[in-house]
Amino acid sequence: MDYVRVLENRDNPARRRLVLAALGELGIEPVVQESRLLRVSNIVVDLPPGPGARRLLFSAHYDAVRGSPGANDNASGVAVLLGLCHKLKDGRFPIRAVFFDREEAWLRTPLLRAGLLGSFHYVWKNSLRDVAAVYNLEFCGTGDYLGVWPVRAKERRLHAFQEVEKAAARLALPMWAAHIPWFILSSDHLPFRLRGLPDALTLSLLPSSQVPLLEERLADLPRLLFRGRTAWPEPLSSIHTARDISSRLSEGSLELMLTLLLELSQGWGFSPGGACPGAGPEPRREPGPGPPASS
Ligand SMILES: [Zn+2]
Repeated sequence: MDYVRVLENRDNPARRRLVLAALGELGIEPVVQESRLLRVSNIVVDLPPGPGARRLLFSAHYDAVRGSPGANDNASGVAVLLGLCHKLKDGRFPIRAVFFDREEAWLRTPLLRAGLLGSFHYVWKNSLRDVAAVYNLEFCGTGDYLGVWPVRAKERRLHAFQEVEKAAARLALPMWAAHIPWFILSSDHLPFRLRGLPDALTLSLLPSSQVPLLEERLADLPRLLFRGRTAWPEPLSSIHTARDISSRLSEGSLELMLTLLLELSQGWGFSPGGACPGAGPEPRREPGPGPPASS
């Protein structure tokens, strides 16, 4: 929670400096991937450092919507990812942690929002051959019910989904696989899928009381489209607002998500210090998407 408190209410350049400082304190030297054109600075950490190993890629965007303290969206995800770097800095399992810039929308109209600039830049500039799967974090600061999205019926067969299902079962963590269309809500998993890596999912935590309401809302898409975020249950109705503050978050939720990520890293069958087994076919390049709504 300390990381969340440090990041909340800061502008994006300050958040970037604070993430770099936190990694420095952990003795970790990241690579900063910049695009001057897109005004993007992604922060990339390989543990252990060096090429070769196939890795699980964990990500969280560090930017926040202007006017929102950005505690749950997404200082919570950043805090969990920093916790993971701390736990795995001994290089036990090959992972990549990416702190994405500019996930939040740079274009915002009543019907259209466009964001995900940091993750689009990443997938265009990097080969995904060494990425076994992507687990992206969004709003992990409240609740004890795992939300995995977007997952349509056929995506339940994805290796990344089955591994998260097994890890949640081992932790007796209740889980909801949500099919959320990208034009309703999206995040940094999307560019990976569009680049041909289907094993890319976003993980969130939800208060269990809100899960039936979320299911009900998703069954009524026209209402969501026209009423926007006010139609969502918590925590989604708070994000991007002045109510997204750290005092509403729970340390237990952040710890729960970190425990899940460690369980996932272990469950993928890495040999300690060795390579990660593959998730499926090599990614292929596909044409780009229309502008997505970002969370
Ligand atoms: Zn977000």
